[in-house]
Order: sequence, then structure tokens, then C-alpha cells
Amino acid sequence: MSEKIVEKRLSEIAGMITRRESWGWLSNGPKWHYFVDGRSLCGRWLGLGLGELEQGMDNSPDNCAECRRRVVKRKVDLEANQK
Ligand SMILES: [Zn+2]
Repeated sequence: MSEKIVEKRLSEIAGMITRRESWGWLSNGPKWHYFVDGRSLCGRWLGLGLGELEQGMDNSPDNCAECRRRVVKRKVDLEANQK
């Protein structure tokens, strides 16, 4: 594969992730959870009526511990699938 094609694929993947998933904060709890397709990775929440959404804070102490564990695994899996 040429470098240009690799670059294009990587930006497509990044765009996909940004659109479909991110950290979200719900007004009824102190913790941030990671939502994918409207459902938190820890399985406790649905992302309806999300107050705020944010990317790139995977190591924040305010994150749900379960979501944090799963998001790390998820990113490793996503990367492995691209090889
Ligand atoms: Zn969670």
C-alpha cells in the first residue's frame, strides 16, 4: 500500500471513531462513561440526553473505571484489526 492510501485510511478510521463514540457525562452521576452507538461500554447507561461529549481524555480520574478499562482494550483491538 502506498503511504497516501495508508494516510487516507487512518483519517477515515479517526473520523469514524469521532462520529460514533466518545466520553459522555450524564447529569445523574459524577463519572464520565464511554459511549459507543449510544450505549456505555460498562453497560450501565444509555446515552440519551447526554450533557457533554468529549474526546481524548482516556486517563481522566473522573472516568468510570469499567469504561476506562474497556476503552483501552477497544483501541488496542481496533488497531490490531487494521494490520
Ligand atoms: Zn461506565
